[in-house]
Amino acid sequence: MRESLEQTGGLKVPSRIPLHVRRGRRQKDGEEGPFGPDSEPLEEQRADFYESSPVPQIVCHRSGRVYSLNRAARDLLGRSGSSILGRPLQGFLSRPDGRRFETFLEEVLAGEGGAGLEVRLEAEPSRVQEVALEGSPGGPMGDGEGLVLLAARDVTRQRAAEEIRYRGERALRALNATNQAVRWAPDEGTLLQEICHFLVRGAGYTLAWIGEPAGEDGEPIRVLASADLDGCLERIQDPIAWGFLPHGRGPFGRALETGKPAMVANVAMDPQYDLWGEQAAGQRFRSVLAVPLQDERRVHGVLCIYAEEAAAFDAYELNMLCRLADETANAMASFRAREAQHRAERERDRLLELLNATPDAVAIADPLGEILYANPGAFRMAGRSPSCDSGRAFLGDFLAPVAAERLRREGFPQAREAGLWRGEAALRDAEGQDIPVAMVVVAHKDGAGRVERFSVMAHDLSQFKSQQAELERVRRLVSLGELGSVLAHQLNQPLASAMNFAQGSLRRLEEPDEAGNIRFGLEQVVGYVRQAGEIVWGVRHFLRSGEPKARPMSLNSLIQRLTPDHLQGGMEAARLELDLQAELPQVQADPILLQECLSNLVRNAEEAIAARSAQEALEDKGVVTLRTRRYSRELVEVAVEDEGIGLPEDLREDPVQPLFTTKTGGMGLGISICRSIVESHGGRFWAAPNDPEPGTTFHLALPVCQEP
Ligand code: ADP
Repeated sequence: MRESLEQTGGLKVPSRIPLHVRRGRRQKDGEEGPFGPDSEPLEEQRADFYESSPVPQIVCHRSGRVYSLNRAARDLLGRSGSSILGRPLQGFLSRPDGRRFETFLEEVLAGEGGAGLEVRLEAEPSRVQEVALEGSPGGPMGDGEGLVLLAARDVTRQRAAEEIRYRGERALRALNATNQAVRWAPDEGTLLQEICHFLVRGAGYTLAWIGEPAGEDGEPIRVLASADLDGCLERIQDPIAWGFLPHGRGPFGRALETGKPAMVANVAMDPQYDLWGEQAAGQRFRSVLAVPLQDERRVHGVLCIYAEEAAAFDAYELNMLCRLADETANAMASFRAREAQHRAERERDRLLELLNATPDAVAIADPLGEILYANPGAFRMAGRSPSCDSGRAFLGDFLAPVAAERLRREGFPQAREAGLWRGEAALRDAEGQDIPVAMVVVAHKDGAGRVERFSVMAHDLSQFKSQQAELERVRRLVSLGELGSVLAHQLNQPLASAMNFAQGSLRRLEEPDEAGNIRFGLEQVVGYVRQAGEIVWGVRHFLRSGEPKARPMSLNSLIQRLTPDHLQGGMEAARLELDLQAELPQVQADPILLQECLSNLVRNAEEAIAARSAQEALEDKGVVTLRTRRYSRELVEVAVEDEGIGLPEDLREDPVQPLFTTKTGGMGLGISICRSIVESHGGRFWAAPNDPEPGTTFHLALPVCQEP
């Protein structure tokens, strides 16, 4: 093969100039022009023409190896001839572009290369050049076997402009679709789903989802809507983690935290997202944008959009998507406000149902007491009908005068102060009857702390009061039963004694000179009958009033009077000792009932000692000690301590068990009566084993007499 190329400054010049290059010349076939055959040697002219052509031209071998390239091509690629000559052009292309380029060369050489080819060439300094290639077969200088002449056109700007237009259009289309959806979507869920759907199907993004933080910081996100291309959402194992990443550093987290859009230009390259790089490898997206969905008050969520290209979101597109996000956020806010309003209305309806159904009276009044609302229960309680009440009504009109006064002095001021007042009051119904009620007054205040409304609730206590009275009656009946037993118990002794003395006196009537003894006997009868009369009087009084006839009295004096004579049958098995604290305050008590109580306890103590003596065959008498002491500021205590057998097991937990007795002929009522008596004085009654044992101590504490 003849060497048809000549070296010109390291350049190989093609012998045949392609058509489109020739078109730039004014020369036509058969015509003489400035490059005419006689003016210069043809080869040189060609070389000059090739080298100085403004059209970048590259000559390649069939394999793609670069044979030559002119200045314009060197400029286009920003490379020197030596850095590219002899190297395959595919090395400057992406792999898919490289394969397409090889096919293209084959087609050109086969005469089918009419179509051009667009590729992205790596140029210096590191940039990418979008180039449109047109190829024609032909060896240089008339011997172009296996060579292809490529005329290159820089289409970078054109493509960039198209890209911008495309991106602008897709974002604009998405914005329009959002505007439409805001108008027709019936609820938030449908709207968000529609937006995601359109971003992917209509605007061509790879994946779009909207999420909101489900809990505290670091908690998972709740996805509100999502759409993806080719099921890519499924291929992402954990899309949420991608958006959030630890410590809120993913775009979702950043957008949420800052309230500003957050972007990742290339997930595969971003060093901050190693995690992403790994997982993003098989995905159809390179860049991510997270835009906060916020109105003036708060961030409702974040819209995450994934695009196939790296650095997909330019300023214009970002602007459009931010507007889309704002539209969405406003729509979300109004959906949520509407939902909140519906909820509030439902709550209000439920509350109204409740107010209508409750038998309690509920009223709302302004700060002056004028009633603004009253529920049916209030009308029912007041015995009025809502229809016949017209004109202004005040709370005071429905209250008994005393209750109205109490509310005025105490209820409203305290509610104003503390927000709430509770107390008893009385309503006055249409017929002038007073209804006892438990009342609650609540003050509702405005932002400045001024009372706007009072709510007043009243619960009818009539039934409760009558139940209470019934209870009191039952309690008295129980006491009556107990006191009946006391009577039987206590009257037994004076009546038996009176009987003895009366019979003795009768017997002596038959005998002479017995007038003195008969007198003594009859005096004893009178004394015992009087004692019985006093007991009956005390009990009658207790039954009548329900309360003992209490008066200030000294416990020490009462105890000192309580000699064995006052105790039934005297004290045979035990010795009585007194341990009385000096200068005790007086107590408020009924001396007769108290005496009965103490007699009972001392008698039990003695019997316990007797039982122990019998059991343990003791020779000495046991001791019963009566002590007094100041128990607390309010109470004075009497303790009856014995050295007896101790409480039976059944009474150890609770010594007050009516009708429980361990004695033959016992009634098991003494202790319950003692407790009734002490408690009816407002005192306390209890018992405990001695520590150390043996024996038991019964305690009663009575209220100190209040200074007048
Ligand atoms: P009664 O004396 O008629 O049995 P009480 O109610 O006075 O009725 O006493 C009930 C029971 O409590 C007695 O049978 C006795 O077993 C026990 N008890 C009362 N006082 C004492 C005491 N000081 N020591 C031991 N047991 C007692």
